[in-house]
Amino acid sequence: MTEPLVKWSYEGEKGPHYWGHICEEYEIAKSGKSQSPIDIHMEKVMEVQGAAPLELNYKPTKYTVRRVENSVHLFPKDKEQGLTFDGKRYNLIAFHGHIPSEHTLNEHYFAMEWHLVHMNELGERLVLAVWMEQELEGSDFGELAEIFPQVFADFGIEKEISLDVSGFLPEKRAYFKYQGSLTTPPTFEGVTWIVMREATSIAEEDFVAFQDIIQDTNRPLQELGDRQIHHSA
Ligand SMILES: [Zn+2]
Repeated sequence: MTEPLVKWSYEGEKGPHYWGHICEEYEIAKSGKSQSPIDIHMEKVMEVQGAAPLELNYKPTKYTVRRVENSVHLFPKDKEQGLTFDGKRYNLIAFHGHIPSEHTLNEHYFAMEWHLVHMNELGERLVLAVWMEQELEGSDFGELAEIFPQVFADFGIEKEISLDVSGFLPEKRAYFKYQGSLTTPPTFEGVTWIVMREATSIAEEDFVAFQDIIQDTNRPLQELGDRQIHHSA
């Protein structure tokens, strides 16, 4: 029913191995040398003393929830929240999740990975990634698990929800940082990735609801090439 509206997919003829062939705009998916996601292997990680400070400033706000391609995305009503990294201020423009995780740690896949997509005034993108493991109790997503299947079923449906993303961030601010791309078409490069070192947790009940909709929405791992991964220690 909704299939014709989806330009790319996670399986079959429109799957990740073919993204670079779907249209000219997606070509970077096969030719790019700085693609995401990657495996974060501790042997390849460079620990940086006095790494760039990461300051997170999120607050409770309303989000518009709607389907985008093969997932459900949340768009904040209040644009005045986000983070400061390396002296640059970035605003949160949207967020969404992937099951299982896209980035791996020593080839370990986490149950889920959230992507908080930011942009600064120069139009530069920074994605903050948060890993989650499935536990009995976990982060508070409010009504999101309930709304998820409703908006996914119909591109025309939009819902509103109140949420505070700081509620699902880890307490410790240690992070990995590297230069990559978006993980969905068009997989533009020039994206700064901040992957939080510490995983948080998602309650089984919420996880199952999200899993029903976005299971296997992870792009396969991409070559690190000559890129470096920094660790803030
Ligand atoms: Zn993503």
